[in-house]
Amino acid sequence: MSKHVVILGAGYAGLRALHELQKGNNDLKITLVDQNDYHFEATDIHEVAAGIQTSERITYPIKDVVKTACTTFVQGRVETIDSENQLVHLKDQEALSYDYLIVALGYESESFGIPGVEEFSLKMVDIPTSEKVYQHLTEQMKAYKETKDENCLKIVVCGAGFTGIELLGSLHEGKKNLANIAGVEPEKIQLYCVEAVTRLLPMFSEKLGGYGIDHLKKWGVNFLVGKPIKEIKQDTVVYLDNQETNELNELQAKTIIWTTGVSGSHVVGDSGFAAKRGRVMVQPDLTDADHSNVYIIGDCSAVMDKESNRPYPTTAQISLKMGEHAGKNIKAQLKGEPTKEFTFKSLGSVASIGNSHAFGEVGKMEVKGYPASVIKKAIMDRSLFETGGIKEMLAKGRFDFYR
Ligand code: NAD
Repeated sequence: MSKHVVILGAGYAGLRALHELQKGNNDLKITLVDQNDYHFEATDIHEVAAGIQTSERITYPIKDVVKTACTTFVQGRVETIDSENQLVHLKDQEALSYDYLIVALGYESESFGIPGVEEFSLKMVDIPTSEKVYQHLTEQMKAYKETKDENCLKIVVCGAGFTGIELLGSLHEGKKNLANIAGVEPEKIQLYCVEAVTRLLPMFSEKLGGYGIDHLKKWGVNFLVGKPIKEIKQDTVVYLDNQETNELNELQAKTIIWTTGVSGSHVVGDSGFAAKRGRVMVQPDLTDADHSNVYIIGDCSAVMDKESNRPYPTTAQISLKMGEHAGKNIKAQLKGEPTKEFTFKSLGSVASIGNSHAFGEVGKMEVKGYPASVIKKAIMDRSLFETGGIKEMLAKGRFDFYR
């Protein structure tokens, strides 16, 4: 009887694994589960939040990549995994049994237990939350017209990590449209970023990170660095202004967006896997330590980089590689062959600041400015190709390289 592989999650890792398992003539039955009927490009959601891209532009239907001869797609919400009985429990649907399981449930916003984050700030983690940010922004612009309350024109991004920086770049680009709605000049819209540490973007050299930050500063973004956020109140960010005297200060704004980092899906911990912030330290072949038929990949997974002796960072690039690797290892297990150890050589990472500026590293080379933005688009197109194939890449890819 053919073996049943269940893949949880249709993000970068899950769809790349699906692609690998659908390839060739395998005696396999595959079930792919996702709460949505579409895949979204998680690296581009800040553009939807800022209103410079529609969500249609960064999503495609999952059915487009499902080969119905071997794969069934189930739209449903995973509640828990019972790895002892090899069952996946779904909300309001029958449980799924599996021979092999790939857990690729992605990430969630992390509040670090800071009071008020859930109630008074906006998350930006998926399509609905990103659309909500844009909707909120347009509402504030309209409210300004009525009330002339300057706080309606203030936007605070909490955290200057990769996500916060890319969001600020897109918000700058979206200012013209927002200003139009408010009936003001774009300069009237004020962008703030509050960040806990002083050494920003530690994945890049100080000079390269500084290039990106300076660029945003030139565009008028106000950075408050070395100011850990302690609480979010209605329309207010409370931060530690002086670490020696413990003096707090407040920044008022009608839009507060929370981008201080993510954790892996809570389902992993809820299911009894040894997870820390939703991430499980997996075996070198990407399986769970106690279950050789369960692969945990993408943002739910932590894999040791032997060179740095630290887990690899979570990125779309590594998720794609893990997906491919898990698929290959399951194929090996089915043939009774040994699984292979996961290795990863980063091709580098590039942060966009708006549509035609970016900065980052490609291999050992630092890139910045317009050429970097072309590289960034090529990276995005490549990841679209790896999950969606040529069709989705041609339909949704970025080819606006020419100014
Ligand atoms: P992150 O952890 O990289 O950055 C979060 C930032 O928020 C940090 O600078 C941190 O110091 C700050 N912060 C945390 N708590 C704070 C507080 N209380 N007050 C003020 N600041 C605080 O998180 P991210 O930007 O969400 O990225 C998550 C992961 O996704 C990272 O691994 C990142 O590299 C990756 N990512 C990659 C890309 C890309 O490759 N283009 C894009 C987005 C995200």
